[in-house]
Amino acid sequence: MNNVGEILNDVSLKDYTSLKIGGIAKYLVKPRNITELKNLMEYIKENKEKYIILGHGTNVIIDDSYFDGIVIKLDNFKDLVFEGNEVTVGSGVALGYLAKVTLDSGFISFGFASMIPGNVGGSVVGNAGCYGHEIMELVKTVEVMDKDGNITKLDRSDISYGYRYTSLKNKYIVLNVTFILKKGDVAAAREEIKQNNQKRINSQPLDKKNVGSIFRNPENASAGKLIEDLQLKGRTIGGAKVSEKHANFIVNEDNASFEDIVSLIESVRQEVKDAYQIDLVVEPTIIKWDSL
Ligand SMILES: Cc1cc2nc3c(=O)[nH]c(=O)nc-3n(C[C@H](O)[C@H](O)[C@H](O)COP(=O)(O)OP(=O)(O)OC[C@H]3O[C@@H](n4cnc5c(N)ncnc54)[C@H](O)[C@@H]3O)c2cc1C
Repeated sequence: MNNVGEILNDVSLKDYTSLKIGGIAKYLVKPRNITELKNLMEYIKENKEKYIILGHGTNVIIDDSYFDGIVIKLDNFKDLVFEGNEVTVGSGVALGYLAKVTLDSGFISFGFASMIPGNVGGSVVGNAGCYGHEIMELVKTVEVMDKDGNITKLDRSDISYGYRYTSLKNKYIVLNVTFILKKGDVAAAREEIKQNNQKRINSQPLDKKNVGSIFRNPENASAGKLIEDLQLKGRTIGGAKVSEKHANFIVNEDNASFEDIVSLIESVRQEVKDAYQIDLVVEPTIIKWDSL
């Protein structure tokens, strides 16, 4: 592997996910620029390596066995360039930072995302959102690389997307994104953010290892409420537990394994299905090495 960026060997993926679960990966590679990423994709193709892209690791539940493959992290894709009411941002920029910087420049559009702990790449791929907003609303274009190293700039209209979903997933590597921003009352936006953040602190188990909401909300219902009504808060399998604070969170309470988390998710999903005939959909991406 030459000219592909920083290469780390035998890396514990526990240290790269908010749930603190994940096996040892043969390589974790951080390209410094598009050329290095292109070289890496060529190497992967030629050597038939398995690979995953990892953002900030806050929406993934990762297999804890050994990964004989490559984890690609775009942490070095950190450019942030304003042009009028647009900002072009690298995949590796944290949403919270983007919210701060854009607010400091008088734009209020990213206020909703200030407490979403992911990076721009992962958040656009999964169309992250909250408080009635989602990130795809703000997207103008997305620059992507395909598995063969070809680079394309997609307009928002080229991408299909919906609730926590875009057609970019598993197809492209997001390199950078251009967003259209709106000016507004920054003081009012800051106050709203403060209140929303406090609500999160009060209602979510932010002091525990977690991966955000486990299930998408079904139409016209709250997954958390359905689970809570079945008195499943506190249910435990191995080291994994349904949070006592918020029923739609599963926490890694005590050295949970990948299997503990996945089994607990399945047991909750089955109970909800039996009780309400609602098939809950898991929101985070579950990554199993043998299915790559
Ligand atoms: C406490 C907490 C609160 C949360 N609150 C919210 C919320 O309010 N709303 C919400 O929507 N989410 C929420 N989340 C979930 C998560 O933060 C978001 O989904 C976030 O957008 C994920 O970004 P990431 O960088 O961590 O992605 P990762 O978890 O690293 O990756 C997610 C997926 O995107 C892919 N991916 C990552 N980067 C790229 C790239 N550059 N190109 C192509 N594919 C890529 C990965 O392969 C993976 O499939 C929360 C999570 C936590 C822990």
